[in-house]
Amino acid sequence: MDKMVNLPVYLDNNATTPCDPRVADAIWPFFTRYFGNAGSRDHAYGWEALAAVDIAREQLAGLINAHPHEIVFTSGATESVNLALKGVLEAYRSKGNHIITVATEHKAVLDTCAHLEKNGARISYLPVDQHGLVDPNLVAASIEPATVLICVMHANNETGVLQPVEAIGQLAKDRNVLFFCDAVQSVGKTPVDVQALNADLLSISAHKMYGPKGIGALFVRRRDPRVSLMAQMDGGAQEKGRRSGTLNVPGIVGLGKAAALALQEMETDRTRTAALMQKLEKALQQQAGAVVNGSLQHRLSHVSNCRFEGISSSSLIAAIGKEIAVSTGSACTSGTTEPSHVLLAMGLTEAAARSSIRFSAGRFTTEAEIDHVIEVLLRAINTIRKQEQGQPITAHS
Ligand SMILES: *Cc1c(COP(=O)(O)O)cnc(C)c1O
Repeated sequence: MDKMVNLPVYLDNNATTPCDPRVADAIWPFFTRYFGNAGSRDHAYGWEALAAVDIAREQLAGLINAHPHEIVFTSGATESVNLALKGVLEAYRSKGNHIITVATEHKAVLDTCAHLEKNGARISYLPVDQHGLVDPNLVAASIEPATVLICVMHANNETGVLQPVEAIGQLAKDRNVLFFCDAVQSVGKTPVDVQALNADLLSISAHKMYGPKGIGALFVRRRDPRVSLMAQMDGGAQEKGRRSGTLNVPGIVGLGKAAALALQEMETDRTRTAALMQKLEKALQQQAGAVVNGSLQHRLSHVSNCRFEGISSSSLIAAIGKEIAVSTGSACTSGTTEPSHVLLAMGLTEAAARSSIRFSAGRFTTEAEIDHVIEVLLRAINTIRKQEQGQPITAHS
């Protein structure tokens, strides 16, 4: 990809990834030439669109080892999460109204849970340890007769920490409780297999895996067990009645192409971005005293959430902002002045959470960019440390 001049180095791939040019090329004809409604059964325009949607459905299903009929296209993972949580709770009302989730989930999950709580659902928010990990035994111990759903994300968006989802999926299956996994950050970056995970529902977003924004999917298991879901969008009964609305054909084609590319390039991407992140992380640890937040073993290798003691992340980001695009955490919560709920749940003090920055590399990150980032960061950190000999900050409460 040609680099745009005067723009900072992009290390915020967990917030969104650039659309791969090969994905953009695949999408283009579906705006102009093949513009048909995939629901039009009476002419070639509709048939062409439907054929493209079918291919994309197979491509995405192939990436996560699902059946194409188990893919429901949505407007993005936020909608997928809403459909999973609200749709299951409504469909299984006769069984109960209890959901088990974790304190470090994405806001899409936590805010949906808060909404459901207001309407009478009971939610257990499980804690994590200092590494950001939830204990599967605690999940098992929290199951009640009224529990209809266990909701645990695969990779955390702020830290990259990978939850023990295989163990959780297995125990959910053993205990006859549905398991929903928000896998937005892991799909396309590391192998995700809905059979190995025993996932009954799983959310995906195209713009976190080099596809376009505004398109996503929900995997819904169709047998062993067959998951019932109450639709949250009523209308033309598209997606077998699970999500009405004219299909976003260009978006769906883009998501399919992104999935096909991920299947081909995941290992190369992973090896390359891991090396780049390791180089950055080592330099920051050795030369700026950075401390990595979250498990070092169970983590996506292209993500690093670093704490710089005594330095506020907002002043550091202000100092480097013209040269490096990073964030303090979730794009959905940055802009608020609240410290990260993920880092607080891991036991960091507010001050420690406020001195943390998330770096996330991607398919188009280069080594020259990483070298530049190291240089800019070290210079900025030294300047800030010289200027303000601030209060010492302790890491854990
Ligand atoms: C980005 C993200 C979402 C929301 O996805 P959208 O497609 O932007 O709505 C949900 N969960 C996680 C973990 C994410 O990183």
